[in-house]
Amino acid sequence: MFIGQLPKHVSPRKLAYQNAKLEGELAVASCPRLKDILVDDRASLQVTLKFDVDHQRRAVVQCEMQGTLLMVCQRCLDVAEIQFAACVNMAVVRNEEQARNLPADLDPLFVVEDESVELMPLLEQEVLLGLPAFAYHENETCHSGQEAYSTLPEGGAEELDVEDVQRPNPFSVLAGLKTGE
Ligand SMILES: [Zn+2]
Repeated sequence: MFIGQLPKHVSPRKLAYQNAKLEGELAVASCPRLKDILVDDRASLQVTLKFDVDHQRRAVVQCEMQGTLLMVCQRCLDVAEIQFAACVNMAVVRNEEQARNLPADLDPLFVVEDESVELMPLLEQEVLLGLPAFAYHENETCHSGQEAYSTLPEGGAEELDVEDVQRPNPFSVLAGLKTGE
């Protein structure tokens, strides 16, 4: 087992026969395309890669990734925390024909010639596929909802208190998300 820094290159077939498991962090800063989409490039994702040989004698990789990423909320254009989690199953293939013959639940992982693949671009691609096309806050935390507060009729403090009880404070919800990490 390998914990910490993920290797730059892996040999999936070799690792599959070893039943290897790799764990480490994928830093957003090392993913140029991901960096363009996200608000904060200091984030990183926890990655677990499990290599195995399945009953069809295919070298397979299960890739799990999770972490908190910051994207722009398309409703209020403020920063929104996205809890990213993905689990992708891949099978090592040599060519398009093998890729076409894979069952739907297995993504092709092309490995040719020297048996090794560069890991970071591969993981980055999977994150890009797993990210929502448009990010939004959860309803309670979206700042666009704040207009409702400012348009409250000028009434007594009692009326405001009732509002406060009924609606969760967006900032306390955010704070809850952060401490929950
Ligand atoms: Zn929002």
